[in-house]
Amino acid sequence: MTVMITGGAGFIGSHICVELIQAGRKVVIFDNFCNSHPEVINRIRRITGTAPDAVRGDVRDVQALISALSAHGCSSVIHLAGLKSVADSVSNPAEYYDCNVVGTLRLSQAMQQTGVRNIVFSSSATVYGEPDVLPLREDHKLAPFSPYGRTKMLAEELLGDMAHSQSPLNVAILRYFNPVGCHESGLIGEDPNGIPNNLMPHISRVAIGQLPVLNIYGNDYPTSDGTGIRDYVHVVDLAAGHIAALDCVDRQRVLKVNLGTGQGTSVLELVDAYTRASGKMIPITFAPRRLGDIASYYASAELAADVLGWHAKRGIAEMCRDAWNWQRKNPNGYLDQ
Ligand code: NAD
Ligand code: UDP
Repeated sequence: MTVMITGGAGFIGSHICVELIQAGRKVVIFDNFCNSHPEVINRIRRITGTAPDAVRGDVRDVQALISALSAHGCSSVIHLAGLKSVADSVSNPAEYYDCNVVGTLRLSQAMQQTGVRNIVFSSSATVYGEPDVLPLREDHKLAPFSPYGRTKMLAEELLGDMAHSQSPLNVAILRYFNPVGCHESGLIGEDPNGIPNNLMPHISRVAIGQLPVLNIYGNDYPTSDGTGIRDYVHVVDLAAGHIAALDCVDRQRVLKVNLGTGQGTSVLELVDAYTRASGKMIPITFAPRRLGDIASYYASAELAADVLGWHAKRGIAEMCRDAWNWQRKNPNGYLDQ
């Protein structure tokens, strides 16, 4: 039976496709390519020997979803399609609610109409907001402070209601911490448009010489070296977490689980690891704190180990090695065909 991967042409989705195909599963990508490049399909074929089926469509289009789910004989969906920039979500909240919340609603309706029951959903640690206590456990209160975070929280609630409806869905909600790195081949990776907002792709662009300097937003946080701490998780480990979730999604109605390593890493520690992995100097400058940033957050990885039997295997050195491998082989991302 086939797994539909909405947003499967994107950074995380492409890595999930590879892991699923290599595990012998059939996949169909459903993506409107608003933030990805069709070349990724060719790259997935080069890694796995199999080109995934792909449908160009929008997750707000119920009819297109029904056709694709039926035509490909799908039994499950991994739902990644969505918009993900915190800053853009502040400027354009309507677009974010439409794509991320309405898109999830339309997908649920299409699944109910086609009898596809299982859904694994890409949520984010941003749903927690400012931590009361670390590490963040799944039962921590939810208080996101951006429109983006609120769209994820609402989509979680919507799916929870669908799980208890007359035509119930089996739901696994995965709260990602900070996915970085890429497939070790260097054939697929993170390819943001313009100047990257996130730390790892920004460091990569500085290392390759496309950006002059890394601005470090804040060195006066109450952390070991004053810079922000996050739980970086290798995207290939993250992809494996989705396979584990697919395998147990029908065992309980709603599963909510963190995907993180349980380890915090500061900005300066990540820069240091990247310098060692790449052999490149990364010029830095300290800048004021970024609005809305939290000093420190990292996951409790216990529930993922208990219910999914999943834990991250790759450390910061591998994350930096693979991010650099992708960057140096594809200085212009997927435009380097
Ligand atoms: P990405 O932008 O690389 O991938 C998202 C994909 O969805 C893209 O291929 C895009 O073209 C597609 N898409 C967007 N809107 C669509 C629509 N209306 N219809 C069909 N396709 C659409 O992002 P990513 O980093 O791979 O993230 C995937 C998911 O994981 C997103 O839902 C994101 O919010 C979530 N997430 C990402 C991170 C992160 O740091 N990357 C962290 C937590 C959660
Ligand atoms: N960061 C930084 N410079 C950048 C981008 C990010 O210092 O150019 C810091 C940011 O303040 C945070 C950490 O790096 O402490 C991770 O930021 P990112 O945007 O990657 O993830 P998020 O804050 O969304 O968890």
